[in-house]
Amino acid sequence: METCVSEKYFIKTFGCQMNVYDSSRIADMLENEGYTATSKQSDADIVIFNTCHIREKAAEKLFSDLGRAQLIAQERQENEGKTTIIGVVGCVVQAEDTQIMKRAPFVDFAVGPLVYHKIPKLLRDIRAHRRQEGVVDTDFPAISKFDFLPENKAQGACSYLAVQEGCNNFCTYCVVPYTRGAEYSRPVAEVLKEARRLIATGTLEINLLGQNVNSYHGEDENGQERGLAYLLHKIAELDGLKRIRYTTSYPADMNDELINCHRDIPILMPYLHLPVQSGSDKILKAMNRRHTSGDYLRVVEKLYRANPDLKMSSDFIVGFPDETEADFEATLSIVKQVQYIQAFSFKYSRRPGTPAAVMENQVEEKVKKERLEILQNLLFSYQEKFNQACVGKVMPVLLEQKGRHKGQLIGRTPYMQNLHIETDGANINKIINAKVISATTNSLSGKEL
Ligand code: SF4
Repeated sequence: METCVSEKYFIKTFGCQMNVYDSSRIADMLENEGYTATSKQSDADIVIFNTCHIREKAAEKLFSDLGRAQLIAQERQENEGKTTIIGVVGCVVQAEDTQIMKRAPFVDFAVGPLVYHKIPKLLRDIRAHRRQEGVVDTDFPAISKFDFLPENKAQGACSYLAVQEGCNNFCTYCVVPYTRGAEYSRPVAEVLKEARRLIATGTLEINLLGQNVNSYHGEDENGQERGLAYLLHKIAELDGLKRIRYTTSYPADMNDELINCHRDIPILMPYLHLPVQSGSDKILKAMNRRHTSGDYLRVVEKLYRANPDLKMSSDFIVGFPDETEADFEATLSIVKQVQYIQAFSFKYSRRPGTPAAVMENQVEEKVKKERLEILQNLLFSYQEKFNQACVGKVMPVLLEQKGRHKGQLIGRTPYMQNLHIETDGANINKIINAKVISATTNSLSGKEL
C-alpha cells in the first residue's frame, strides 16, 4: 500500500546532539518515503520517540510519553478512524531490548541507534500487515547504517554531522559502549560529501559529532587512516562554510595535531567541550578514565597556548561511589584552574549493567545534592563572569531562531552564548556583528551595528 502523501510523522528526541542528528536523518528517510513533518503529535500517522539511556530519569520519561501516545492514538482511531504507528528508536531500545514490548505492547517497532535505516521497510511491512507482532531490532550491523541513508539536507544555519560513533573507553558509569557499540569512523570522502550538501542547502556552521569524536580514524581515498585534525583541515577548505565545531572529545585523545588546529584554522570556533567528570585522580581511576587531572590540565594549557582566546566547557559527575570531601574539593579546584564558561553537571546515576552501579561506598542522595549545588554555584559564577566581560564587545552572531518578542532574533556567538537582538527578520540564518549591551548568567543582549 503506497504512502499517502498527506501522511504525517512526528519525532520526539531525547538526549544528546547525536540523537538530534539521528532524528534529522530519520526525518530525511521519512520525507524520502513521502511523509511530511508535523510538530503536533495528535496530527501524526507515525509517532517516533528517539531515546536516551544516560540517566534513570531519561528512560522512565519514555514510558510516560508512550502511555500518552497510546491514548492519543486511541482517540484518533475512535474520532477519525485513523491508525497511528508508534515507534521507539535509540539507546533505551538497545539497553532494554524486548522489555520495551513487555512494558508497552502497543508499540509497533523498536530499533536500536545503529539500525534505524531499517525504518522505511518496517513501515511498509506494518502497513501491508506483513507484521503482526511489534518488531524489536537491536542488531550491531556489519555494514554501517550510513551506507543506507538517503541524501541529507541542512538542519538549519547550524547542522550536526556525525563522523564517528560508539566508544571503546568503557568509563565505569557509562552505558554508551553498550548502547552504541565499538567505535566506528566514517570514511573521509563520505563525510566531505555530506558536508558539501549541508553547505549547499544553507548550513553556515557544521558541528562534527561523535561519542568520542577526537578518536576519529576514518579512511581517506587511498585507504589511509586519518585523524580528526586532517578532517578538520579538509572541511575548513569547503567554500561557503563560516564556522566549525566538534564534540564530544576525550582528554587522552587530544593530540598536538588536533590542538594546533585551534591555532591554524580560523573558522574553528574558540570554544571546546572537554569533559573531565572529576578532579580527583582516585575517582578518575575508579571511573576508568585514561587520564589524570594533571594530564587534563596539561592539555588545557596547550590549548590556551595554541589559541589564547579559546574558552572551555566540560561535564562533571558528583557523588561517584567512594567520593570523599577531599575528592570533591579536587573537582572544585580544577574548575577554579580552568574557569569554564559553560558546563553540564550531574549527580552520579547508577546505570544497570555498568561496573560503577555495583561499586561499594555509594554516596548518599543528600550528599550528592549538596555537592551538586556547590559545584553549580561555582560553575555559574565563572559563566556569569565571562558573560559580563563580553559587555561592550562586538561579536559575530549566527542568528538561528525567532525570539519571544516581536522583531527579536536569537543567535549564538563563537562561545556558544545565546544572544538576543532586535533586528530584521531577514537576518535569520545569517551571521551579523552585534555589540553586547547586557548579560546574564545564561545569555547576552546585543545591538546591531
Ligand atoms: S568516553 Fe564518554 S561515551 Fe565513552 S564510555 Fe566514557 S563517558 Fe561514555
